[in-house]
Amino acid sequence: MNNIIQGIASFQGSVFPGQRQMYQQLVRDGQHPSALIIACADSRVSPEHITQAGPGDLFVCRNAGNIVPPASDVVGGVSSAIEYAVVALGVRDIVVCGHSDCGAMKGLMNRDLLKRMPSVAAWLRHAEAAERIVCEAYPEGMDAQARHHALALENVVVQLANLRTHPSVAAALAKGSLRLHGWFFEIETGALLAYDGASGRFRPIAGADMPVAQDSSASSRLQAA
Ligand SMILES: [Zn+2]
Repeated sequence: MNNIIQGIASFQGSVFPGQRQMYQQLVRDGQHPSALIIACADSRVSPEHITQAGPGDLFVCRNAGNIVPPASDVVGGVSSAIEYAVVALGVRDIVVCGHSDCGAMKGLMNRDLLKRMPSVAAWLRHAEAAERIVCEAYPEGMDAQARHHALALENVVVQLANLRTHPSVAAALAKGSLRLHGWFFEIETGALLAYDGASGRFRPIAGADMPVAQDSSASSRLQAA
């Protein structure tokens, strides 16, 4: 805990004084984050650090495995964060961000690891479709590392599908006010891949080229109506 206590002292003693005006303005004007990022709770995957974002820039929701439970009667932290971000804050983009060396994905691949963690095991059921995809649609002879990588990528795609089941998301997509993104952060290289919904592949984010999982569809069907 010592390093945390030192960090607080440093923030209050030397960082905050230089940022006081910015923080006060964020209270005066309220928050207007441009994106909601749903990322893994893994301590090595910090959305703010990866994107070099500051206070007020991102609305962040983190949990084991960057999971988005599908919309249902059961209210949870993720669904309420999504609804608040879309309806109250009007975010224009939602990102689901997975990563390399993910403990949750290892648990999905090897259920023995979850024997003493019934809550984690139950939570990861929301990612079971990704596991089935890798088991049934990928080559059998893949080594464990390649399987883990494939599972983490497929999990991002599955969670994007779950995201679309949320009424606030579905409505914002139909209105043309929201885009969905699927990212994969490779911790060891710092590379960030983004899911390109048009090709169904992950591509590196390079410069201004940002592949989009789903653009808003304000849609031909609305125009046709
Ligand atoms: Zn993880």
